[in-house]
Amino acid sequence: MDSTAKTEIAKLQEENALKADLISISSHQLRTSLSAIKWVMKMILDKDVGPLTTEQEGLLKKASDSNERMIALVNDLLNLNHAQDIVSGYTFEPVQLVDLIESVLFEFTSETKKRNIEILFLKPDTHPGSISADKVKLRVVLQNLVENAIKYSKDGGKVFLSLASNDGKLKLSVKDNGIGIPEDVQPQIFKKFYRAPNAEKWQTVGSGLGLFMVKKIIERHNGKIWFESTENEGTTFYIELPLAPTPTVA
Ligand code: ATP
Ligand code: MG
Repeated sequence: MDSTAKTEIAKLQEENALKADLISISSHQLRTSLSAIKWVMKMILDKDVGPLTTEQEGLLKKASDSNERMIALVNDLLNLNHAQDIVSGYTFEPVQLVDLIESVLFEFTSETKKRNIEILFLKPDTHPGSISADKVKLRVVLQNLVENAIKYSKDGGKVFLSLASNDGKLKLSVKDNGIGIPEDVQPQIFKKFYRAPNAEKWQTVGSGLGLFMVKKIIERHNGKIWFESTENEGTTFYIELPLAPTPTVA
């Protein structure tokens, strides 16, 4: 490549970075305003500032639902803008998956309480060994899998996580007894923006981006992800990651 082409590429990269920053900043600002609207509407809907007629309440609820959808869209915009980070910018370090899972599960406590969903985590008896991973990105993986398991569960459902090491690999499963994934759409599940019809009906908020990102991150860790599911019975997602070699004592 000659030097002119190199300068041209550098210029394009700079422009791209600038655009990405611009999208980030505007989406953040949008999200801040939308959140402010959300809280104002919540105060009115909770009747903190006085009574409402049934008609006023109904209309306000509609506005509030639209606002929620807009917040979800802006979140996606922010996520998409971080797509670059999903493919590059990895920092690998030894990670204990047990600790990371426990800290992720803790984040969902209030939601699971509200919906009466029980989460069980079956830890291995012995230390499963560590993996070489990017902790921040692996957290995104766990958050998405646990979030999906909860989101697509019925109230009172059960989510079961299990971790085991075998054959130089760490295997995690996240199982739920929720709505399941219809067999005919199973091949589409990891595609960008894909949402199964039963999921769209069950939970209107969602972008179909979560699993797309999850798969990219797992593959970057030389791992594998797959699932088994039966509609109306439940779904189990599996991830498998290579264990870091244990240091040998000289
Ligand atoms: P978001 O991008 O906000 O996470 P989403 O949850 O719809 O939206 P993904 O997480 O990418 O998107 O999941 C893609 C689709 O896979 C879902 O819309 C749903 O159809 C299906 N799916 C994923 N996990 C489950 C699950 N545990 N149970 C049932 N269906 C699931
Ligand atoms: Mg999701």
